Amino acid sequence: MFIKIPKLLRLLTPGIIWEVDCHCKQVYLTFDDGPTPGITEFILETLAKYDAKATFFCLGKNAELYPHLIEKILAEGHRIGNHTTNHLKGWQVCSKDYMADMKRANKIFKTNLFRPPYGRVGFKQAIRLLKQYKMVLWTVISQDYSKKFTPEEVLRKVTGHIRPGYIIVFHDSVKAYDNMSYALPRALEYIYKKGYTCHVLP
Ligand SMILES: [Zn+2]
Repeated sequence: MFIKIPKLLRLLTPGIIWEVDCHCKQVYLTFDDGPTPGITEFILETLAKYDAKATFFCLGKNAELYPHLIEKILAEGHRIGNHTTNHLKGWQVCSKDYMADMKRANKIFKTNLFRPPYGRVGFKQAIRLLKQYKMVLWTVISQDYSKKFTPEEVLRKVTGHIRPGYIIVFHDSVKAYDNMSYALPRALEYIYKKGYTCHVLP
């Protein structure tokens, strides 16, 4: 697993967004797998301290349970992306079922941004999805969900890779909370001290 996706791989996958084309000091924080009660609020409060904006790639099944968190994310000026209803593994599901699962989530999200769980979809699924959505992957993955890494290591993966236009992934989930809750406030402090600001995906 790469922390930073190699340039060659990014060039070989046109139509997929790996970073934002910008030359000013802006980065794009993203939070996958939420909303999660207690954790989403922590993220929102932390972002608010810097007036930082982010994009939340949410799961439809969580949004159905916690619609007030979706409203809160949007009310605070962030964006929502579709991360499927059930965190599908694209390689285990046919295109028809994948699109139905996406459609169910998008009844709530009404977004044109999409991030496939595990960063993977089948070729046929990709063709269908790209007709309707912008597919957003990432430049830098914090691996906050992994117990193999300490909170300090997760922080360094992010602060070591801050460049204009980079898209950074954290997780809005119980599994990632210990690492994310340590790394996110410190990463934001670092990002803003370096003169960068955080924005929603365009
Ligand atoms: Zn995910």
